[in-house]
Amino acid sequence: MKQSQYFIPTLKEAPNEAVIPSHILMIRSGLVRSLGSGIYSFLPLGYRIMKKIMTIIREEMDEIGGVEFHMPALNPSEIWEQTGRRNVPNFILSVKERDLVLAPTHEEIIAFHARADVKSYKELPQIWYQIQTKFRNEPRPRSGVLRGRQFTMKDAYSLDSSWEGLDVSYEKHAQAYRNIFSRCGLKFFAVGAASGAMGGTASQEFMLESYHGEDTCVLCDETGYAANLEVATSALPPIGRIDNNLPLEQFATPNSKTINELVNDFQLDVNRCAKSVVYIVDSKPYLFMLRGNDELNESKVQTLLTAADLRPATEEELVKYTGANGGSIGPIGLKSTEVTIIADNLLRDANGLVSGANTNGYHYKNIDFSRDVANLQYADLRVIEAGEPEPSGTGAKLRITNAIEIGHIFKLGTKYSIALGAKFLDMNGKDQPIIMGSYGIGVERILACFIEQHHDDKGIIWGTALAPFTVHILGIGLKKSEKVREYCDSLYAQLQSAGIEVLFDDRDISPGFKLNDADLLGMPLQIVVGEKNAAIDQVEIKVRSTGDKHVIPFSDAMQTITSLLSTIGS
Ligand code: ATP
Ligand code: MG
Repeated sequence: MKQSQYFIPTLKEAPNEAVIPSHILMIRSGLVRSLGSGIYSFLPLGYRIMKKIMTIIREEMDEIGGVEFHMPALNPSEIWEQTGRRNVPNFILSVKERDLVLAPTHEEIIAFHARADVKSYKELPQIWYQIQTKFRNEPRPRSGVLRGRQFTMKDAYSLDSSWEGLDVSYEKHAQAYRNIFSRCGLKFFAVGAASGAMGGTASQEFMLESYHGEDTCVLCDETGYAANLEVATSALPPIGRIDNNLPLEQFATPNSKTINELVNDFQLDVNRCAKSVVYIVDSKPYLFMLRGNDELNESKVQTLLTAADLRPATEEELVKYTGANGGSIGPIGLKSTEVTIIADNLLRDANGLVSGANTNGYHYKNIDFSRDVANLQYADLRVIEAGEPEPSGTGAKLRITNAIEIGHIFKLGTKYSIALGAKFLDMNGKDQPIIMGSYGIGVERILACFIEQHHDDKGIIWGTALAPFTVHILGIGLKKSEKVREYCDSLYAQLQSAGIEVLFDDRDISPGFKLNDADLLGMPLQIVVGEKNAAIDQVEIKVRSTGDKHVIPFSDAMQTITSLLSTIGS
């Protein structure tokens, strides 16, 4: 491809709204242009990379027996009403006049087709996938194509006749995903995750560690433990019991509204101050108890109670259910018997605790959970913290890091097949709901994440797998020197016939511009053909990733290019 005939509008500076490296570099190197908040056009160079990513994805999906669909982005909203996902916040964009929605994902549509066309266990298992445009009403689209309102997803769905079959389909996808991300040259890790709005029994996210990530993950570098903070656990031991088991006693705490005030005013052990948090979960009141300095993990609560909706109680609800305002609430003497009390595992059977007395300005001390609180349940409720020991008990420490999600696999089960009536006849001729899995990859996210991981202050550094072109020929002094023109044309032709993708910068612009643009665009190898070198039958080859320069005889160029390429990773 000759650059004079291509369209790569590079920029010296990115617009102000671009703050993360991939967003800045994708705009500066002419891969994308913004059309509106969270909406991007891919320009030719950017779309060339997208196609390479999609090819890798297709190859790996075909390898596990996937068959490719193409389902419409525009969906009748009635299908979405059947699963109750018509009104998931941020999920669905509507075309109101016609009662249509722009699909955020395609579980419903897959179940719709399965209901119509899958009849018997003999037709299962199936893996159906597509690479399609998705729409989401993201509240604050930012970070460029990493979080768009329109984006490209490879979404796959497995249909199985047994739960064991689902395990097999899920494992096949996990392997395909590892292959896809490795082939794309990404450094990634997989974490156990919460299933969230999707429902289902198990899920794994594929993540990249990144300062700019919106997810938070917990890692142990020694043991390889990795989990989303939503589900992460640690081996921190329960606070246990103290010897001095005194009778329950109420005391006045008029100025101690927060745990910190309580600890300071009465010289208490913060771990034995039991914090009370009241939530309304699917319309029912719950009191969650945690160590004073711990945070409630809402995802854990959602999973524990298979809750569709949860929120902190309002001031009025606090008074209605407990009898007190925030700051004086506790497990003893609650006004309403409707409240379910669940304490964090770290407080299991603990005593010597201090907690609110459900009367404003009063607390209890010497609380013994096993003695004083009836029907108390325990569960893992807390957000874990950096430095805690990893859960398997080796004593190695956990660290917490930001991460970007690039893929997500779910064991969905029968939620969607039941809602839409997608059944099959089993071996005994009985109707059964199809057992589904759902598996997504963000195509733009792979591209942007690659750049997040592979760039320097000059620009992008492509590996061989996703590079839009493998070799970039820079003709310096093309107009002045016959030899430069001849060498460039000859190399261009030789590379093309060897099947090596080549971009030839034949533009009539200053050498400085050409060299800077080449570093910004980041093709793995740059062949600089300049007047001085050409006059003595030489060319310069620069490896973009290392900056190494090799000045070699023109006659060795092809051989050197091939051997240098073999040293550059994907
Ligand atoms: P996130 O937690 O980042 O919002 P999600 O959990 O909603 O993502 P899924 O529904 O699991 O995403 O979608 C599958 C994949 O699609 C994600 O792993 C991600 O790579 C990609 N993706 C999701 N939302 C967006 C978006 N707004 N822009 C670009 N890619 C996205
Ligand atoms: Mg997800």
